[in-house]
Amino acid sequence: MTEKKLILQLRDELRQHNYNYYVLDNPTISDFDFDMKLKQLQTLEAQFPELHDPNSPTLRVGGEVTKNFKTIAHRQRMYSLDNSYSKEDLLDWETRIKKLVDGPIQYTCELKYDGASISLTYKNGTLFQALTRGDGSQGDDVTANVKTIKSVPLKLQGDFPNLFEIRGEIILPFEGFQTMNKDRIAAGEEPYRNPRNTASGSLKLQDSAEVAKRPLACFLYNIVGDNLGIKTQFESLEKARSWGFKVPKQARCLNSIDEVLEFVKYWDTARHDLPYEIDGIVVKVNDLHQQAELGFTAKAPRWAMAYKFKAEQVSTLLNSITYQVGRTGAITPVANLEPVELAGTIVKRASLHNADQIAKLDVRIGDTVYVEKGGEIIPKIMGIDRSKRPVNSQPVHYISHCPECQTLLHRKEGEAQHYCINSKGCPPQIIGRIQHYISRKALDIEGLGGETVALLVNAGLIHDVADLYPLTVQDVLPLERMAQKSADNLIKGIELSKQIPFERVLFGLGIRYVGETVAKTLARHYKSVGALSEANVESLESVDEIGKKIAESVYDYFRDETNIRLVSRLVSYGVQLELSEEAMANQTSILSGDRIVVSGVFESISRNDLKALIEANGGKVVSSISAKTSYLVAGENMGPSKRQKAEQLGVPIVTEQEFLEKF
Ligand code: AMP
Ligand code: ZN
Repeated sequence: MTEKKLILQLRDELRQHNYNYYVLDNPTISDFDFDMKLKQLQTLEAQFPELHDPNSPTLRVGGEVTKNFKTIAHRQRMYSLDNSYSKEDLLDWETRIKKLVDGPIQYTCELKYDGASISLTYKNGTLFQALTRGDGSQGDDVTANVKTIKSVPLKLQGDFPNLFEIRGEIILPFEGFQTMNKDRIAAGEEPYRNPRNTASGSLKLQDSAEVAKRPLACFLYNIVGDNLGIKTQFESLEKARSWGFKVPKQARCLNSIDEVLEFVKYWDTARHDLPYEIDGIVVKVNDLHQQAELGFTAKAPRWAMAYKFKAEQVSTLLNSITYQVGRTGAITPVANLEPVELAGTIVKRASLHNADQIAKLDVRIGDTVYVEKGGEIIPKIMGIDRSKRPVNSQPVHYISHCPECQTLLHRKEGEAQHYCINSKGCPPQIIGRIQHYISRKALDIEGLGGETVALLVNAGLIHDVADLYPLTVQDVLPLERMAQKSADNLIKGIELSKQIPFERVLFGLGIRYVGETVAKTLARHYKSVGALSEANVESLESVDEIGKKIAESVYDYFRDETNIRLVSRLVSYGVQLELSEEAMANQTSILSGDRIVVSGVFESISRNDLKALIEANGGKVVSSISAKTSYLVAGENMGPSKRQKAEQLGVPIVTEQEFLEKF
């Protein structure tokens, strides 16, 4: 088979697997095999840039960076929906529309997904553009970001129209949201508040590679276009599904408002079992002719109505407030409630976030509070029933000292959270740091769990992560519930962790803002903890994707005596604190260290792909020519000043063809 054929075949295969996995929820190949095929395609595409396809499955990983999103007018306005909250509201709507159309009315009922609306345009079966709703008449072009969402088809299947728009909702399922938050907490960052805002925030990230990492999904519900030959809303959902879109199966075509009310009632409870958030039901007149007769008001279609569920709210007693100390010393106030049932679960605690939140609510011990569960995982206190406030109640005095070590708390200007800065002597911080170090994405020490860490610390056997390494079986045997076998496993696990690569050890150190990805970037750049610890803020900030906040945090970490001692003890025990030879070898590639300027228009490859190709091969794309430039890749119509400058400075100029021959 020629390479060209192979590339096309791999693209088709990968597309089908994506569809099976993300749209049908029915994968037919292992993740590993999928990755192997994807890598193979990436390699081939780098060799044959002339076969570039903007809709290749390899582009799902993102990489395109958008500094300013272009604002583009919607060909047809994106309306919002009128809301109803009761049976009476829905019956009123029915009365209104019955006066405006002839004949019986059928309704298509769909779930109202709580995310960010999106409008996708397809031309000749490929995704052409993705726009946010914006103000309804114009939205932002977020195509590069949306392309990374795996359930959005880049190429359609079946019998689709040549040109149409399809609208839907980008959502973040609960599970993915929780995983993202676990990772953030592990990196010492504030967790995201709810899936909806996180989904819409994701669409506006500048780096599409970041979007690609987020487990977003896209549900479609509305086809817009001329002469599509579709007669009903329900039919359009089926059509969209047949072209490869993800259209949830819960939609129903119903014959009366009574049936609609039953559907609404069913989902008011059943929604708690869905893996994603919905905030209501959308009822749409099914017949598209009737829809056209009904038309739009200035704000919304007359032919549709959203039924909004009440966020479930209960009232209960606030018994006490406790303060938790996290690994980074951050204090979180937690409300302890008289247990109460809410949205199908028993709630005992609610988050109060920080001191400002408590002051704003003026919540007091003994108050009857309203608790609500929105998209958030932990319920929130929404307000207080003042009529039930005990006469002698007092405002909450936020703690001034750490509940665990009695150190005076600090609060930095502009930050909402109070911190206990006694990082070395505060037990939950000590335990939290060690728990982070042994966690799955860090050192992943088998045979050692979070509870055992607490036991070890409380028994005075360890004070920091380096103390793990000299532990012996005899040391740990006396611990509660520690049998010979588990003691053996524990010590073996610790020994094995010396093989964990540098980047994961660096993540495990728990430096604030250094999450998994940042740790990887820093490890690859500096190659050893020695070089990293000597880097100044300027050097750190010059590393790709490292901003000021991270740079300062890393710099400060290595200016602390205790941290330096800790790291050097880890080195002495044989923990990996530099890149292995193997990892180094992987790093060197044909353009390694080259600084390349790209200018002009290219024939066989787009500018962005050319840049990606350079970076994938270890080169760096720089914007202006200097004496340090390795060479200039010149396309058509390159400005004369660039050529002159290159000639002056003796920077070699290569043509597109010459450059591509290297690969
Ligand atoms: P609202 O933002 O409350 O005005 O509600 C209108 C929004 O609901 C629309 O802009 C859509 O983004 C969203 N929506 C979610 N699910 C659906 C659905 N099944 N049909 C139509 N709109 C929906
Ligand atoms: Zn403390």
